[in-house]
Amino acid sequence: MNTPIYLDYAASTPVDKRVAEKMAQCLTLDGSFGNAASKSHIYGWQAAELVDIARNDVADLINADSREIIFTSGATESDNLAIIGLALANRDTPRRHIITSTIEHKAILDCAFFVSKLFGFKITYLPPNDKGLITPEALEQVIDDNTLLVSLMHANNEIGTITDIKAMTKIAHEHGALMHSDCAQSAGKIAIDVRDLDIDYLSLSAHKIYGPKGIGAFYIKQGSPKPVAMIHGGGHEMGMRSGTLATHQIVGMGEAYKIAKQEFKQDAKRLLDLRERLLNGLLPLGVIVNGDLAERVPNNLNVSFKDVDGENFLLSLRKIAVSTGSACTSASLNPSYVLKALGVSDDLAYSSLRISFGRFTTEEEIDLAVEHISEVYQRLAHKNLWKM
Ligand SMILES: *Cc1c(COP(=O)(O)O)cnc(C)c1O
Repeated sequence: MNTPIYLDYAASTPVDKRVAEKMAQCLTLDGSFGNAASKSHIYGWQAAELVDIARNDVADLINADSREIIFTSGATESDNLAIIGLALANRDTPRRHIITSTIEHKAILDCAFFVSKLFGFKITYLPPNDKGLITPEALEQVIDDNTLLVSLMHANNEIGTITDIKAMTKIAHEHGALMHSDCAQSAGKIAIDVRDLDIDYLSLSAHKIYGPKGIGAFYIKQGSPKPVAMIHGGGHEMGMRSGTLATHQIVGMGEAYKIAKQEFKQDAKRLLDLRERLLNGLLPLGVIVNGDLAERVPNNLNVSFKDVDGENFLLSLRKIAVSTGSACTSASLNPSYVLKALGVSDDLAYSSLRISFGRFTTEEEIDLAVEHISEVYQRLAHKNLWKM
């Protein structure tokens, strides 16, 4: 059998070849393999210079200063730093309330649960409306002067919906609270300007935008309180994250972000065309779109299929690699908690597909996917109705 068409870019993207080339130059004896913390020789200086360049490129994409960027192992670690690190720093203050949402990534939800269990923080989970959007009004209703932190993702990983972070930050600050956003799914896909948002903290990942896995960043606005560090030993990254800097990973992230800055607008245009093509192909099957279609990153479509046994349907889609709910939770057989939060029924949640595409997806691949999904659906939906 041919390998399936990759339509799971929201889970991870292939590394751009331009990125891979730069990374390879940081590994071997003839490249910049040194330790960026070695101050006494050129091997260290070279590595440090490449890290500087990458830090600038990451900062540039979000209009930050490079001194506001801390490299981490990924958005998961950055989310831990935000939630647990800030809870630790404020354990003994009256501000022991954190607001997040029911549709956050597990990296946020599990950290929120952790600080509620261990330190007794009160957590409020904002629900989305039926379009998957968290409204500023929902935040207004629950925030008070004991709120320490508001953490809301910029773009959702399952349905791609976008939160108005600027409005949320304004509300948080009006109550003296700090604002964090998980931007793993939005960075490099839609514009982010930390100065305009006025946000305090932001989590970034490389592998959702054609960089390598295992590297990410944490943005801290200059002057905003620093979280307590999670990883100690050596005081790297201004004491916020110890450990020898992974030059090849950092350079990969920098290059991926640099390319994203140059190309995201034209990428987005092409991706929107692909999505329209995909949706127009699937609409004759009577699919239901999950999440607002307009307030959404351009590379995501999440649809439910009616009158079909979800498990059977998904198992039969052999020619495409897609996700049914979040990649991180697909090991368990529960319906997606994000779709449930939108009010989608169990049956429709089970028969839903997250189809996500990207820089290397072609029109031909979209057409083949539509053809395959239609063929499988018509075969199985029919049978299913017959049985009833
Ligand atoms: C992928 C993802 C993460 C985790 O990022 P890693 O870099 O893989 O740790 C966190 N949040 C969201 C919204 C994501 O999509």
